Amino acid sequence: MDCLFCKIIKKEIPAPRLYEDDHAIVVKDINPQAPVHLLALPRKHYAGVHEVTGADKKLFEHLFNAISAVVEKEKLAQAGFAS
Ligand SMILES: [Zn+2]
Repeated sequence: MDCLFCKIIKKEIPAPRLYEDDHAIVVKDINPQAPVHLLALPRKHYAGVHEVTGADKKLFEHLFNAISAVVEKEKLAQAGFAS
């Protein structure tokens, strides 16, 4: 498997982890394009958004909850952020 994101999840590519659980991780981007640049990744591999279906709704709700937890924990809401 030659997926960059799966390599980050498997720790083959190191990235500082701000959050992780059984379904998702949130890491700092190793090549940030903004002062705060995070990646929120589901542990399940998707080749692209075209593979996301209604059956994945719960996982993506979970992913957005993870993002909210990091925004809260890292006090990012005051600084403003884009997703
Ligand atoms: Zn992948």
